[in-house]
Amino acid sequence: MKNFNTLSKDQLLQCKKELKKQYDKYLIEKLNLNMSRGKPCKEQLDLSNDMLNINDYISSDNIDLRNYGILDGIKEAKELFSNILNINKENIIIGGNSTLNMIYDAISRLYTFGYMDNTPWCKLQKVKFLCPVPGYDRHFDILKKFNIEMINIPITENGINMDMVESLCKEDEYIKGIICVPLYSNPTGTCYSKENIDRLAKMKTKAKDFKIFWDNAYAIHHIYERVELYNIFDACNKYNTQDRIMYFFSTSKINFPGGGVSLIAGSDNTIKDTLKHLSTQTIGYDKINQLRTVKFLKNKQNTLTLMDKHANILKPKFDIVLNTLNTNFKDNPILKWDSPKGGYFVSVYTLDGLAKKVVDMCKGIGVILTDAGSTYPNMLDPKDSNIRLAPSFPTTTELQKAMDIFCLCVKIATIDKMIAQNNL
Ligand code: PLP
Repeated sequence: MKNFNTLSKDQLLQCKKELKKQYDKYLIEKLNLNMSRGKPCKEQLDLSNDMLNINDYISSDNIDLRNYGILDGIKEAKELFSNILNINKENIIIGGNSTLNMIYDAISRLYTFGYMDNTPWCKLQKVKFLCPVPGYDRHFDILKKFNIEMINIPITENGINMDMVESLCKEDEYIKGIICVPLYSNPTGTCYSKENIDRLAKMKTKAKDFKIFWDNAYAIHHIYERVELYNIFDACNKYNTQDRIMYFFSTSKINFPGGGVSLIAGSDNTIKDTLKHLSTQTIGYDKINQLRTVKFLKNKQNTLTLMDKHANILKPKFDIVLNTLNTNFKDNPILKWDSPKGGYFVSVYTLDGLAKKVVDMCKGIGVILTDAGSTYPNMLDPKDSNIRLAPSFPTTTELQKAMDIFCLCVKIATIDKMIAQNNL
Protein backbone atom coordinates (compact mmCIF):
# COMPACT_ATOMS: atom_id res chain seq x y z
CA MET A 1 0.00 0.00 0.00
CA LYS A 2 1.33 3.41 -1.04
CA ASN A 3 2.17 6.05 1.54
CA PHE A 4 -1.00 8.20 1.71
CA ASN A 5 1.14 11.28 2.24
CA THR A 6 2.45 10.98 -1.30
CA LEU A 7 -0.99 10.78 -2.93
CA SER A 8 -2.94 13.61 -4.56
CA LYS A 9 -6.56 14.30 -3.68
CA ASP A 10 -7.77 12.41 -6.76
CA GLN A 11 -5.58 9.43 -5.94
CA LEU A 12 -6.84 9.42 -2.35
CA LEU A 13 -10.44 9.58 -3.51
CA GLN A 14 -9.85 6.76 -5.95
CA CYS A 15 -8.22 4.73 -3.22
CA LYS A 16 -11.16 5.38 -0.90
CA LYS A 17 -13.60 4.26 -3.58
CA GLU A 18 -11.85 0.90 -3.82
CA LEU A 19 -11.61 0.49 -0.06
CA LYS A 20 -15.26 1.42 0.38
CA LYS A 21 -16.21 -1.34 -2.08
CA GLN A 22 -14.45 -3.84 0.18
CA TYR A 23 -16.17 -2.37 3.23
CA ASP A 24 -19.59 -2.78 1.61
CA LYS A 25 -18.78 -6.38 0.71
CA TYR A 26 -17.99 -7.16 4.35
CA LEU A 27 -21.22 -5.45 5.39
CA ILE A 28 -23.29 -8.07 3.53
CA GLU A 29 -21.54 -10.88 5.41
CA LYS A 30 -23.13 -9.82 8.73
CA LEU A 31 -20.02 -10.76 10.70
CA ASN A 32 -19.73 -11.20 14.45
CA LEU A 33 -16.04 -11.11 15.40
CA ASN A 34 -14.83 -10.05 18.81
CA MET A 35 -11.36 -8.72 19.67
CA SER A 36 -12.48 -6.67 22.63
CA ARG A 37 -11.36 -8.46 25.80
CA GLY A 38 -8.33 -10.46 26.85
CA LYS A 39 -10.13 -13.76 27.24
CA PRO A 40 -8.26 -17.06 26.81
CA CYS A 41 -9.65 -19.19 23.97
CA LYS A 42 -11.14 -22.66 24.40
CA GLU A 43 -7.86 -24.45 23.58
CA GLN A 44 -6.18 -22.53 26.37
CA LEU A 45 -8.93 -23.37 28.86
CA ASP A 46 -8.71 -27.05 27.86
CA LEU A 47 -5.06 -27.08 29.01
CA SER A 48 -6.32 -27.00 32.59
CA ASN A 49 -9.21 -29.48 32.37
CA ASP A 50 -7.35 -32.00 34.55
CA MET A 51 -7.79 -29.60 37.42
CA LEU A 52 -11.49 -30.42 37.40
CA ASN A 53 -10.77 -34.04 38.31
CA ILE A 54 -8.93 -33.19 41.51
CA ASN A 55 -11.09 -33.85 44.54
CA ASP A 56 -8.63 -33.66 47.44
CA TYR A 57 -9.45 -31.69 50.52
CA ILE A 58 -6.71 -32.60 53.01
CA SER A 59 -3.78 -30.18 53.07
CA SER A 60 -0.10 -31.15 53.22
CA ASP A 61 -0.15 -30.39 56.95
CA ASN A 62 -3.17 -32.66 57.39
CA ILE A 63 -5.88 -30.04 57.75
CA ASP A 64 -9.40 -30.79 56.52
CA LEU A 65 -9.93 -27.93 54.09
CA ARG A 66 -13.66 -28.51 53.86
CA ASN A 67 -14.08 -26.65 57.12
CA TYR A 68 -13.71 -23.05 58.35
CA GLY A 69 -10.29 -21.59 59.05
CA ILE A 70 -7.00 -20.44 57.49
CA LEU A 71 -7.82 -16.87 56.59
CA ASP A 72 -4.50 -16.16 54.89
CA GLY A 73 -4.46 -19.17 52.57
CA ILE A 74 -3.15 -22.71 52.68
CA LYS A 75 0.54 -23.37 53.23
CA GLU A 76 1.19 -25.11 49.91
CA ALA A 77 -0.43 -22.31 47.89
CA LYS A 78 1.78 -19.73 49.61
CA GLU A 79 4.83 -21.89 48.91
CA LEU A 80 3.96 -22.32 45.25
CA PHE A 81 3.40 -18.61 44.58
CA SER A 82 6.37 -17.69 46.73
CA ASN A 83 8.52 -19.78 44.35
CA ILE A 84 6.89 -18.51 41.18
CA LEU A 85 7.06 -14.83 42.12
CA ASN A 86 10.10 -14.72 44.41
CA ILE A 87 8.24 -13.29 47.37
CA ASN A 88 8.58 -14.53 50.97
CA LYS A 89 5.71 -16.85 51.72
CA GLU A 90 5.05 -15.00 54.99
CA ASN A 91 4.32 -11.89 52.93
CA ILE A 92 1.54 -13.44 50.85
CA ILE A 93 -2.19 -13.79 51.51
CA ILE A 94 -3.98 -16.13 49.13
CA GLY A 95 -7.32 -14.70 48.08
CA GLY A 96 -10.38 -15.62 46.10
CA ASN A 97 -10.99 -15.94 42.41
CA SER A 98 -10.11 -12.44 41.18
CA THR A 99 -7.32 -9.88 41.49
CA LEU A 100 -9.78 -7.12 40.74
CA ASN A 101 -11.72 -8.07 43.81
CA MET A 102 -8.49 -7.95 45.86
CA ILE A 103 -7.57 -4.53 44.44
CA TYR A 104 -11.06 -3.18 45.04
CA ASP A 105 -11.00 -4.42 48.63
CA ALA A 106 -7.52 -3.01 49.26
CA ILE A 107 -8.56 0.44 48.00
CA SER A 108 -11.76 0.19 49.99
CA ARG A 109 -9.85 -0.60 53.22
CA LEU A 110 -7.44 2.29 52.69
CA TYR A 111 -10.35 4.57 51.88
CA THR A 112 -12.49 3.54 54.82
CA PHE A 113 -9.99 2.72 57.57
CA GLY A 114 -6.62 4.03 56.38
CA TYR A 115 -3.25 2.27 56.45
CA MET A 116 -2.22 1.46 60.02
CA ASP A 117 -2.41 4.78 61.93
CA ASN A 118 -2.81 7.03 58.90
CA THR A 119 -5.95 9.06 58.22
CA PRO A 120 -8.51 7.12 56.18
CA TRP A 121 -8.60 8.50 52.68
CA CYS A 122 -12.35 9.17 52.93
CA LYS A 123 -11.61 11.84 55.56
CA LEU A 124 -9.30 13.79 53.25
CA GLN A 125 -10.32 16.70 51.08
CA LYS A 126 -9.27 14.70 48.05
CA VAL A 127 -7.27 11.65 47.00
CA LYS A 128 -5.28 11.37 43.78
CA PHE A 129 -3.66 8.42 42.01
CA LEU A 130 -1.12 8.31 39.23
CA CYS A 131 -2.29 6.22 36.29
CA PRO A 132 0.18 5.10 33.62
CA VAL A 133 -1.54 5.48 30.25
CA PRO A 134 -2.61 3.81 28.07
CA GLY A 135 -3.73 1.50 30.89
CA TYR A 136 -6.31 -0.98 32.07
CA ASP A 137 -9.92 0.22 32.10
CA ARG A 138 -10.99 -1.81 35.12
CA HIS A 139 -8.28 -0.21 37.28
CA PHE A 140 -9.65 3.19 36.33
CA ASP A 141 -13.20 2.03 37.09
CA ILE A 142 -12.20 1.06 40.63
CA LEU A 143 -10.48 4.40 41.29
CA LYS A 144 -13.42 6.29 39.85
CA LYS A 145 -15.82 4.42 42.12
CA PHE A 146 -13.97 5.89 45.13
CA ASN A 147 -13.94 9.36 43.59
CA ILE A 148 -10.16 9.25 43.34
CA GLU A 149 -8.76 11.84 40.95
CA MET A 150 -6.65 10.17 38.27
CA ILE A 151 -3.54 11.78 36.82
CA ASN A 152 -2.24 10.44 33.50
CA ILE A 153 1.40 9.36 33.46
CA PRO A 154 2.77 8.57 30.00
CA ILE A 155 4.08 5.06 29.44
CA THR A 156 7.59 5.08 27.97
CA GLU A 157 9.60 2.43 26.20
CA ASN A 158 10.92 0.95 29.44
CA GLY A 159 8.20 1.78 31.92
CA ILE A 160 6.74 5.15 32.82
CA ASN A 161 7.80 8.77 32.85
CA MET A 162 9.57 8.66 36.22
CA ASP A 163 10.65 12.33 36.14
CA MET A 164 6.99 13.26 36.16
CA VAL A 165 6.12 10.69 38.84
CA GLU A 166 8.89 11.87 41.16
CA SER A 167 8.16 15.56 40.79
CA LEU A 168 4.42 15.08 41.42
CA CYS A 169 4.81 12.73 44.39
CA LYS A 170 7.29 14.85 46.29
CA GLU A 171 5.03 17.93 46.16
CA ASP A 172 1.50 16.67 46.64
CA GLU A 173 0.35 14.96 49.83
CA TYR A 174 -2.95 14.01 48.22
CA ILE A 175 -1.22 11.73 45.72
CA LYS A 176 -1.68 8.48 47.58
CA GLY A 177 -0.61 5.98 45.02
CA ILE A 178 0.13 4.70 41.57
CA ILE A 179 -1.31 1.65 39.84
CA CYS A 180 1.06 -0.27 37.56
CA VAL A 181 1.04 -3.42 35.45
CA PRO A 182 4.81 -3.87 35.46
CA LEU A 183 5.28 -6.72 32.99
CA TYR A 184 3.63 -6.92 29.57
CA SER A 185 1.33 -4.03 30.59
CA ASN A 186 -2.27 -3.99 29.54
CA PRO A 187 -2.49 -2.77 26.76
CA THR A 188 1.00 -1.61 25.68
CA GLY A 189 3.04 -4.70 26.61
CA THR A 190 5.51 -2.44 28.42
CA CYS A 191 8.05 -4.05 30.76
CA TYR A 192 9.29 -1.82 33.56
CA SER A 193 13.08 -1.52 33.65
CA LYS A 194 15.18 -2.09 36.76
CA GLU A 195 15.96 1.63 36.80
CA ASN A 196 12.26 2.50 36.73
CA ILE A 197 11.44 0.12 39.57
CA ASP A 198 14.39 1.32 41.60
CA ARG A 199 13.21 4.91 41.25
CA LEU A 200 9.66 3.96 42.28
CA ALA A 201 11.09 2.33 45.39
CA LYS A 202 13.47 5.19 46.18
CA MET A 203 11.44 8.32 45.40
CA LYS A 204 10.32 10.76 48.07
CA THR A 205 6.59 10.99 48.53
CA LYS A 206 4.81 13.73 50.43
CA ALA A 207 2.11 11.22 51.41
CA LYS A 208 3.39 9.03 54.23
CA ASP A 209 0.97 6.27 53.24
CA PHE A 210 1.82 6.27 49.52
CA LYS A 211 1.07 2.91 47.84
CA ILE A 212 2.36 1.26 44.69
CA PHE A 213 -0.40 -1.00 43.42
CA TRP A 214 1.72 -3.58 41.58
CA ASP A 215 -0.72 -5.65 39.52
CA ASN A 216 1.64 -8.27 38.15
CA ALA A 217 -1.16 -9.94 36.18
CA TYR A 218 1.20 -11.09 33.39
CA ALA A 219 4.17 -12.14 35.54
CA ILE A 220 4.75 -15.40 33.65
CA HIS A 221 2.76 -14.75 30.49
CA HIS A 222 5.69 -14.70 28.08
CA ILE A 223 5.18 -15.17 24.32
CA TYR A 224 8.18 -14.09 22.25
CA GLU A 225 10.73 -13.69 25.02
CA ARG A 226 11.03 -14.32 28.75
CA VAL A 227 11.52 -10.86 30.20
CA GLU A 228 12.73 -10.93 33.81
CA LEU A 229 11.16 -8.28 36.01
CA TYR A 230 13.27 -6.71 38.75
CA ASN A 231 11.77 -7.70 42.10
CA ILE A 232 10.01 -4.72 43.67
CA PHE A 233 10.46 -6.22 47.15
CA ASP A 234 14.25 -6.24 46.63
CA ALA A 235 14.11 -2.64 45.43
CA CYS A 236 11.99 -1.42 48.35
CA ASN A 237 14.02 -3.37 50.91
CA LYS A 238 17.07 -1.35 49.83
CA TYR A 239 15.36 1.96 50.67
CA ASN A 240 13.21 0.71 53.54
CA THR A 241 10.00 1.51 51.64
CA GLN A 242 8.45 -1.97 51.76
CA ASP A 243 5.19 -0.60 53.18
CA ARG A 244 4.52 1.00 49.80
CA ILE A 245 4.01 -2.30 48.06
CA MET A 246 0.54 -3.67 47.37
CA TYR A 247 1.33 -6.61 45.10
CA PHE A 248 -1.35 -8.57 43.21
CA PHE A 249 -1.38 -11.66 41.05
CA SER A 250 -3.83 -14.37 40.02
CA THR A 251 -4.06 -17.59 38.07
CA SER A 252 -6.88 -16.21 35.90
CA LYS A 253 -4.85 -16.61 32.71
CA ILE A 254 -2.96 -19.66 33.91
CA ASN A 255 -5.92 -21.96 34.53
CA PHE A 256 -9.49 -20.56 34.54
CA PRO A 257 -10.43 -16.86 34.60
CA GLY A 258 -12.86 -16.49 37.48
CA GLY A 259 -12.08 -20.03 38.62
CA GLY A 260 -8.53 -19.63 39.85
CA VAL A 261 -6.96 -18.02 42.89
CA SER A 262 -5.52 -14.57 43.48
CA LEU A 263 -3.14 -13.13 46.01
CA ILE A 264 -2.09 -9.93 47.70
CA ALA A 265 1.48 -9.56 48.92
CA GLY A 266 3.13 -6.82 50.93
CA SER A 267 5.43 -5.97 53.81
CA ASP A 268 5.01 -7.50 57.27
CA ASN A 269 3.08 -4.35 58.26
CA THR A 270 0.83 -4.58 55.22
CA ILE A 271 0.04 -8.24 55.81
CA LYS A 272 -0.80 -7.53 59.46
CA ASP A 273 -2.92 -4.50 58.61
CA THR A 274 -4.73 -6.37 55.84
CA LEU A 275 -5.48 -9.41 57.98
CA LYS A 276 -6.84 -7.20 60.74
CA HIS A 277 -9.61 -6.01 58.41
CA LEU A 278 -9.92 -9.20 56.38
CA SER A 279 -10.87 -11.15 59.50
CA THR A 280 -14.08 -9.10 59.60
CA GLN A 281 -14.58 -9.13 55.86
CA THR A 282 -14.54 -12.90 55.32
CA ILE A 283 -14.40 -16.24 57.04
CA GLY A 284 -11.73 -17.16 54.51
CA TYR A 285 -11.39 -17.81 50.79
CA ASP A 286 -12.03 -21.06 48.93
CA LYS A 287 -9.33 -23.38 50.29
CA ILE A 288 -10.52 -26.39 48.30
CA ASN A 289 -9.86 -24.45 45.11
CA GLN A 290 -6.49 -23.35 46.47
CA LEU A 291 -5.54 -27.02 47.00
CA ARG A 292 -6.91 -28.03 43.60
CA THR A 293 -4.87 -25.25 41.98
CA VAL A 294 -1.66 -26.32 43.74
CA LYS A 295 -2.17 -30.02 42.96
CA PHE A 296 -2.68 -29.10 39.33
CA LEU A 297 0.15 -26.58 38.94
CA LYS A 298 2.46 -28.66 41.17
CA ASN A 299 5.54 -26.41 41.16
CA LYS A 300 7.20 -23.48 39.42
CA GLN A 301 8.72 -25.52 36.60
CA ASN A 302 5.48 -27.29 35.80
CA THR A 303 3.62 -23.95 35.84
CA LEU A 304 6.13 -22.45 33.42
CA THR A 305 5.71 -25.48 31.14
CA LEU A 306 1.96 -24.87 31.18
CA MET A 307 2.61 -21.21 30.30
CA ASP A 308 4.74 -22.35 27.34
CA LYS A 309 1.69 -24.26 26.09
CA HIS A 310 -0.40 -21.09 26.41
CA ALA A 311 2.31 -19.21 24.50
CA ASN A 312 2.26 -21.82 21.72
CA ILE A 313 -1.46 -21.16 21.24
CA LEU A 314 -1.15 -17.38 21.54
CA LYS A 315 1.94 -16.83 19.38
CA PRO A 316 0.32 -17.57 15.99
CA LYS A 317 -2.44 -15.11 16.92
CA PHE A 318 -0.03 -12.36 17.89
CA ASP A 319 1.87 -13.14 14.68
CA ILE A 320 -1.31 -12.55 12.67
CA VAL A 321 -1.92 -9.19 14.32
CA LEU A 322 1.66 -7.97 14.04
CA ASN A 323 2.25 -9.28 10.52
CA THR A 324 -1.01 -7.81 9.25
CA LEU A 325 -0.16 -4.42 10.75
CA ASN A 326 3.30 -4.63 9.24
CA THR A 327 2.05 -5.58 5.78
CA ASN A 328 -0.52 -2.79 5.76
CA PHE A 329 1.32 0.05 7.43
CA LYS A 330 5.04 -0.54 7.11
CA ASP A 331 5.26 1.81 4.12
CA ASN A 332 2.22 3.88 4.98
CA PRO A 333 2.83 5.33 8.44
CA ILE A 334 -0.75 6.23 9.31
CA LEU A 335 -0.84 3.75 12.22
CA LYS A 336 1.75 3.02 14.90
CA TRP A 337 1.79 0.07 17.26
CA ASP A 338 3.67 -1.48 20.15
CA SER A 339 5.20 -4.93 19.65
CA PRO A 340 4.72 -6.82 22.92
CA LYS A 341 6.94 -9.68 24.05
CA GLY A 342 4.16 -11.24 26.09
CA GLY A 343 0.83 -10.59 27.78
CA TYR A 344 -2.53 -10.35 26.10
CA PHE A 345 -2.71 -7.21 23.98
CA VAL A 346 -1.43 -5.18 21.08
CA SER A 347 -1.85 -1.45 21.46
CA VAL A 348 -2.17 0.69 18.34
CA TYR A 349 -2.25 4.43 17.69
CA THR A 350 -4.21 5.99 14.83
CA LEU A 351 -3.63 9.55 13.68
CA ASP A 352 -5.11 11.93 16.27
CA GLY A 353 -8.89 12.03 16.40
CA LEU A 354 -9.54 8.72 14.64
CA ALA A 355 -9.70 5.98 17.27
CA LYS A 356 -13.39 6.35 18.01
CA LYS A 357 -14.25 6.55 14.35
CA VAL A 358 -12.25 3.39 13.53
CA VAL A 359 -13.83 1.45 16.40
CA ASP A 360 -17.30 2.55 15.25
CA MET A 361 -16.58 1.64 11.63
CA CYS A 362 -15.38 -1.83 12.68
CA LYS A 363 -18.50 -2.27 14.80
CA GLY A 364 -20.57 -1.34 11.74
CA ILE A 365 -19.27 -4.47 10.01
CA GLY A 366 -19.56 -6.65 13.10
CA VAL A 367 -15.98 -6.49 14.40
CA ILE A 368 -16.08 -5.59 18.07
CA LEU A 369 -13.03 -3.86 19.56
CA THR A 370 -12.46 -2.43 23.03
CA ASP A 371 -14.23 0.94 23.16
CA ALA A 372 -11.99 3.83 22.15
CA GLY A 373 -11.03 5.86 25.20
CA SER A 374 -11.21 2.95 27.61
CA THR A 375 -7.43 2.80 27.97
CA TYR A 376 -7.56 6.21 29.70
CA PRO A 377 -9.15 7.38 32.97
CA ASN A 378 -12.73 8.57 32.55
CA MET A 379 -12.70 7.21 28.97
CA LEU A 380 -10.82 10.33 27.89
CA ASP A 381 -8.02 9.65 25.46
CA PRO A 382 -6.73 13.21 24.95
CA LYS A 383 -5.66 12.41 21.39
CA ASP A 384 -8.46 9.95 20.56
CA SER A 385 -5.78 7.72 19.11
CA ASN A 386 -5.21 4.56 21.16
CA ILE A 387 -7.01 1.28 20.45
CA ARG A 388 -6.45 -2.00 22.29
CA LEU A 389 -6.49 -5.19 20.23
CA ALA A 390 -7.06 -8.47 22.07
CA PRO A 391 -6.06 -11.40 19.84
CA SER A 392 -6.46 -14.35 22.25
CA PHE A 393 -10.12 -15.34 21.94
CA PRO A 394 -10.99 -15.55 18.20
CA THR A 395 -9.82 -18.43 16.02
CA THR A 396 -6.91 -17.66 13.69
CA THR A 397 -9.29 -17.50 10.71
CA GLU A 398 -11.60 -15.08 12.51
CA LEU A 399 -8.67 -13.04 13.71
CA GLN A 400 -7.18 -12.65 10.24
CA LYS A 401 -10.52 -11.43 8.92
CA ALA A 402 -10.99 -9.07 11.85
CA MET A 403 -7.51 -7.64 11.32
CA ASP A 404 -8.09 -7.17 7.58
CA ILE A 405 -11.26 -5.27 8.40
CA PHE A 406 -9.51 -3.23 11.08
CA CYS A 407 -6.79 -2.15 8.65
CA LEU A 408 -9.39 -1.30 6.03
CA CYS A 409 -11.25 0.93 8.49
CA VAL A 410 -8.04 2.68 9.56
CA LYS A 411 -7.31 3.49 5.93
CA ILE A 412 -10.79 4.81 5.11
CA ALA A 413 -10.92 6.93 8.29
CA THR A 414 -7.46 8.32 7.57
CA ILE A 415 -8.28 9.28 3.98
CA ASP A 416 -11.41 11.09 5.22
CA LYS A 417 -9.33 12.98 7.76
CA MET A 418 -6.62 13.89 5.27
CA ILE A 419 -9.11 15.20 2.77
CA ALA A 420 -11.02 17.20 5.37
CA GLN A 421 -7.94 18.52 7.13
CA ASN A 422 -5.91 19.58 4.16
CA ASN A 423 -8.93 20.91 2.36
CA LEU A 424 -7.69 18.85 -0.53
N1 PLP B 1 -5.18 -6.96 36.03
C1 PLP B 1 -4.87 -6.79 34.73
C2 PLP B 1 -3.76 -5.88 34.37
C3 PLP B 1 -5.60 -7.44 33.74
O1 PLP B 1 -5.28 -7.24 32.46
C4 PLP B 1 -6.65 -8.30 34.11
C5 PLP B 1 -7.46 -8.99 33.09
O2 PLP B 1 -7.46 -8.67 31.94
C6 PLP B 1 -6.94 -8.44 35.46
C7 PLP B 1 -6.18 -7.78 36.40
C8 PLP B 1 -8.05 -9.30 35.93
O3 PLP B 1 -7.54 -10.24 36.81
P1 PLP B 1 -8.49 -11.20 37.62
O4 PLP B 1 -9.16 -12.11 36.65
O5 PLP B 1 -7.57 -11.91 38.54
O6 PLP B 1 -9.47 -10.34 38.36
